[in-house]
Amino acid sequence: MKLLNKRAIVTGGTRGIGRAIVSELANNGCSVVFTYFSSEDSAKNLEKELSTETVKVLGFKADASSFSAAEETVKYALDKLGGVDILVNNAGITKDTLLLRMSESDFDSVINSNLKSVFNYTKAILKPMLGQRFGKIINISSVVGIIGNAGQANYVASKAGVIGFTKSNAKELSSRNINVNAVAPGFIETDMTDKLNEQQKEAILANVPLKRLGKPEDVAKAVLFLSSADSDYITGQVLTVDGGMVM
Ligand code: NAD
Repeated sequence: MKLLNKRAIVTGGTRGIGRAIVSELANNGCSVVFTYFSSEDSAKNLEKELSTETVKVLGFKADASSFSAAEETVKYALDKLGGVDILVNNAGITKDTLLLRMSESDFDSVINSNLKSVFNYTKAILKPMLGQRFGKIINISSVVGIIGNAGQANYVASKAGVIGFTKSNAKELSSRNINVNAVAPGFIETDMTDKLNEQQKEAILANVPLKRLGKPEDVAKAVLFLSSADSDYITGQVLTVDGGMVM
């Protein structure tokens, strides 16, 4: 129980990495408000599955790219949980295509869902966190935000932006005891990577020293570490969870 009586917001919590993060936090004693875009049924199921007498797990419908929705989420979490100690910016999308074919809307929607969303929630939670002089903010980036990737200029720009935003905020907020770190997953088995064919997966595995794709739980455990007191002296870092790929 590394997060006993802590309170968190996790964006995009109903499936994949986000769902694993919500479970990991809740199983460690943390109450969670998670956001979802459209899947109301999955949200209700997750609430039921993880709520206990002492741990509240609540879904809130909110588009992460909307600033007013982020403000509403924070208001809801403060009201229902009495405070927020941890923010995990996880929501994200891909719209992969070569730059030559990339439309303005392909670029804008990925930047808004993946990068502006991180601004939205960080900004919305800032005053309460500054006031309580405590906070842990974990932003989910990607290894491609470090090394680049053909066919993903929009996604890579958003994830590299998340790393820059993380480091600036780590410097700006350190005096108020707020740690800001990023996690950069490699290839993790979720709906997002389901689109890859076998040939593409084999090509990826050839560059992964640990010789397997990651699981959502691998990322969730890194988020637990960065949410807990075990990482109190760590800020502004990018923790890769990639089976050694980028190394
Ligand atoms: P996923 O597609 O399974 O889940 C993404 C979640 O985010 C979904 O629940 C979706 O509804 C939600 N979401 C997307 N846009 C949203 C919005 N505007 N508002 C609210 N919710 C929104 O993907 P995943 O693989 O679980 O990805 C989670 C995060 O991890 C993303 O930020 C992704 O970029 C990152 N990531 C994933 C991988 C991977 O290999 N799967 C690798 C590196 C980084």
